[in-house]
Amino acid sequence: MRWVAGLTSLLLLTLAAAPARAAWLDRTEAIMGTRVYVQLWADDPEKGKAAIEAVMEEMRRIDALMSHYKPDSQLSRINQHAALEPVEVDRELFDLIKLSTHFSEITLGAFDITYASVGYLYNYPLHVHPSEEQIKAALPAVNWRNLQFDPVHHTIRFGHPGMRIDLGGIAKGYAVDRGIAILKARGIQHALVTAGGDSRLLGDHLGRPWLVSIAHPDEPHNPDKVVTRIPLSDTAVSTSGDYERYFDEDGVRYHHIIDPHTGHSANKVRSATIIGPTATETDGLSKTAFVLGPEKTLEIINRMPEFDAVFVTPSGRLLYSNGLRPPKPRPAGAPPPGATPSPSPH
Ligand code: ADP
Ligand code: MG
Repeated sequence: MRWVAGLTSLLLLTLAAAPARAAWLDRTEAIMGTRVYVQLWADDPEKGKAAIEAVMEEMRRIDALMSHYKPDSQLSRINQHAALEPVEVDRELFDLIKLSTHFSEITLGAFDITYASVGYLYNYPLHVHPSEEQIKAALPAVNWRNLQFDPVHHTIRFGHPGMRIDLGGIAKGYAVDRGIAILKARGIQHALVTAGGDSRLLGDHLGRPWLVSIAHPDEPHNPDKVVTRIPLSDTAVSTSGDYERYFDEDGVRYHHIIDPHTGHSANKVRSATIIGPTATETDGLSKTAFVLGPEKTLEIINRMPEFDAVFVTPSGRLLYSNGLRPPKPRPAGAPPPGATPSPSPH
């Protein structure tokens, strides 16, 4: 009897001393009005779980600071007061708003956080869109050049009445980058962090690239209908689509990417995927093709060596940036680069 008891306690001791098994861990949460997903490889599952929680906590923190839905966020305070007086904000928010104007500059105004001056008149779940008169009245307030920055005091001021801002087109990418930075600092080497359409991949997946699927705009939730799959590692990727938040009325699709020049939903592509070093950047760029059109956007992307793009046109064609095109010589008479469908990089 004593012998058996001794054996049992020895067994328990061995179990307790054995290292916990390395494993892939993942978790999904609803934060920032979207689906946040973290997947990582952890040598120690307890540390892995704590790392995932730290990422989720960071996303909640960023949401509390930057959400335009939360009336007491600093972003909302800007919208409430910045037309009357300069509003002081945290350096982090100041910097992201300033960075947003950089993306306005390189996208020729397609990305413009002041789009919200007209964007707030849309309510997709309730199928509400503004009338032409409402758009005409609100549109003069849309212009990123009227954002006034005081870099010493970290204040933001609106240079036009009726102006509003909304970071929905860049804050998720920023939050994803923050999440990856947290994981790296904790020694994680293989991970995926996603918020809405924005993802970043750390390392690879079991020695192979991650396979990132691009959804079919007509059947975005059908895994058998994806338009292409792209093998990626150690990079960021953002996809914007006209199928994310939308409603159809009288044959018109009203969706959440707004052309800052017209105040209408921008429809020059159905979906746009941007690949690049950080999710803040790929998020800031993924709206461009909807507004400027795929050809002009490919000109911009093809001039940026670290970036690539895949667009789905309204007729369903796929357009790739030069970096994703197969390195084959083009047959004589073929249309110029960036204007033809090309096969998946597989
Ligand atoms: P997700 O939020 O799923 O990542 P996107 O990256 O496509 O989606 O961003 C869409 C969001 O960007 C909209 O919901 C809105 O908050 C914001 N937005 C819409 N139009 C513009 C624009 N022209 N410039 C900047 N932000 C925009
Ligand atoms: Mg995004």
